Amino acid sequence: MHELIEHVDICIIGGSIAGNYLSYLLSNKDLKITVIEEHGEIGRPFQCAGIVSKKLSHLIGLPTSIVLNRVKIARLFSPAGNHVRLSGDEEPYIIDRIALDKLFYEKNLKNPRITYHLKEKFKRFSYLMETNQERILITTSKRKIIAKMLVGCDGPLSSVAKQLGVQNKILFASQIRINGHFNQNEASMYFNPKWKELFGYVVPEGNNVFRIGVASTSKPLQKLKIFLKTINVEFEKKIDQQGGIIPYGVMKKVAFDNILLLGDSACQVKATTGGGIIMLLTAARHAAFCIYTCMQFNDFSKSMIKNYYEKPCLATIGKQLKLHFMIRTILENFNKKDFQVFFQILKVKKIEDQISFYGDMDFPREIIFQLLKNKTFIRFILRFLLKNPLIFLKLIKTILY
Ligand SMILES: Cc1cc2nc3c(=O)[nH]c(=O)nc-3n(C[C@H](O)[C@H](O)[C@H](O)COP(=O)(O)OP(=O)(O)OC[C@H]3O[C@@H](n4cnc5c(N)ncnc54)[C@H](O)[C@@H]3O)c2cc1C
Repeated sequence: MHELIEHVDICIIGGSIAGNYLSYLLSNKDLKITVIEEHGEIGRPFQCAGIVSKKLSHLIGLPTSIVLNRVKIARLFSPAGNHVRLSGDEEPYIIDRIALDKLFYEKNLKNPRITYHLKEKFKRFSYLMETNQERILITTSKRKIIAKMLVGCDGPLSSVAKQLGVQNKILFASQIRINGHFNQNEASMYFNPKWKELFGYVVPEGNNVFRIGVASTSKPLQKLKIFLKTINVEFEKKIDQQGGIIPYGVMKKVAFDNILLLGDSACQVKATTGGGIIMLLTAARHAAFCIYTCMQFNDFSKSMIKNYYEKPCLATIGKQLKLHFMIRTILENFNKKDFQVFFQILKVKKIEDQISFYGDMDFPREIIFQLLKNKTFIRFILRFLLKNPLIFLKLIKTILY
């Protein structure tokens, strides 16, 4: 190994959306930034259904070339085939995910203070003292880097998080792209106890191409094939196939001495849908402000990072992520009959209209609030929790966490 030693302000592990966007947010702060990415091309391998709420265009300047399609209707299917139809003014984007990852990377390349090392793998970090200041020594497959701060944007299986003792629970996803006969304006979610930790999905990419997948704790490809049969799609006719990992749970510790975690490495992902993009873009803004503040005060302590990053994250996305996890905990434990009754209530009590009106793909607090005004819905949930006291305890534990 060639022993190169680089001195930087910030070392970011992972050159996907979290790492690239954070570097971009910091690009006007005159900081020396290095991004380590193990793959040779940014954005690949492609591992995303690419459905993102319209908040995306509020968070970033979204070039139209990245938007492949928009969805007007979401259809939720019960295991028995009943469905509810949700519409509203949300109209999420279906994006070209590779282009989104490349968008900030290409902007960053123009900044001589930001360096990317591709095909290079983060191995480990340790602390060291340099002129009486605590610094981080990062070892990659090709060099050593001394940084004031290290940011783990290295995804669901984050090596940075692992060394910090933080480990995410994960789901395995399997997806195909295929020419199909579904509605181009609709995204569909198929609930089934067989892939209870998420759902089967059909997302219209545009031009009659659909992204179809499932996520589960085990055997995702086998389950995808079962799912495809139920919706009359032939696996063999796929254009291509993707796999991927989705972290699952609530946001855990994200602040450490000289280190913070961002994106999938921090489990900033909605447990209801597996969507992480809006959450991590929101968290990246807190991270950028925190890093800038640490630099100004020359203070990279855990308490500083907690105050300027972890707490703002908890107050914004953290609470919502807990709610997503609580909803998921309930859905995951529904049996076929529970789903049947649940879908009936949604239909008969016109709750689908309420969800359409108040629903927010990312922030479910308002819709929960509205649903809790509905007596039939409350009776159903209470009966379910009485039958399943362990789930009730899990919900309480999540609230208190
Ligand atoms: C099948 C699937 C469908 C999804 N669909 C949606 C969706 O529709 N909407 C949505 O919002 N979200 C979706 N997500 C989630 C979304 O893709 C993630 O939340 C998002 O990619 C997280 O970005 P990230 O930058 O934190 O991590 P990642 O995108 O996982 O990137 C981590 C980066 O770190 C690099 N890396 C990892 N380890 C190392 C190492 N040791 N050294 C160097 N580099 C390393 C990796 O190569 C990678 O480039 C989906 C995920 C999957 C798997």
